[in-house]
Amino acid sequence: MTQDLFRTDAYLTECSATVSAITAQGIVLDRTVFYPLGGGQAGDAGVLVLAGGTEIPIVDTRKGKTEDGSFNDDICHLPAPEVLALLLQSGQAAGAHLAVGDVLTARIDWSRRHRLMRFHTTTHLLCHLVPQLVNGCSITPDYARLDFNMTDALDKEVLTAGIARLVAAAHPVTVGAITDEELDANPALVKSMSVQPPRGTGKIRTIRIGDLELIDFQPCGGTHVANTAEIGAVIVTKIEKKSASTRRVVLGFAP
Ligand SMILES: [Zn+2]
Repeated sequence: MTQDLFRTDAYLTECSATVSAITAQGIVLDRTVFYPLGGGQAGDAGVLVLAGGTEIPIVDTRKGKTEDGSFNDDICHLPAPEVLALLLQSGQAAGAHLAVGDVLTARIDWSRRHRLMRFHTTTHLLCHLVPQLVNGCSITPDYARLDFNMTDALDKEVLTAGIARLVAAAHPVTVGAITDEELDANPALVKSMSVQPPRGTGKIRTIRIGDLELIDFQPCGGTHVANTAEIGAVIVTKIEKKSASTRRVVLGFAP
């Protein structure tokens, strides 16, 4: 099991960690600042810095899977495939020796992650601007897209202006939690048809945007900026009619 430090503090850029396993799924650490692909948000990239200073580049991060394909509580850090193959074979790759029990520093590519956080928080603003159910979401460092289950047309300029207004208002973004029972009593809190909040632990993580004025409140496990002002210049670059009942909003950074 990997302790997920990014859930309590999305601004942690590195941590000390111990290697708990090296498998075909990647390098598993006892704790990490690397966010694994999930909820539409891309997995983090970065480096693992070994005791001697050697760095192993990490190109992606995924949740660990059990043999039946279900997710477990491991977080797997993926080096390039050829590096992982060498590590599995001999414990060595590109001058680095890595073994279970080794202590290292896990450091994310912060500028990449910060772009993901800015886009991810903007998708919550879109949920406020477009009060419809979401049936698809993809957040990458270069663009994001959110698919709404709706038939009415959307206006690119109106949405871009709406985002700019919410960014300028500098609304705080806070992490909280509700119980499974509270969520059952308020099913409308779940705005996604495609991603269900993780249950079973008794508590479900929530993200609230807005202080006195509530902008958005929903269960979410991703990483967000602490204030909408930090989003900066994010615009709607495209609106697509993906199907008769789906409108896709594509986000990008202003040129
Ligand atoms: Zn979120």
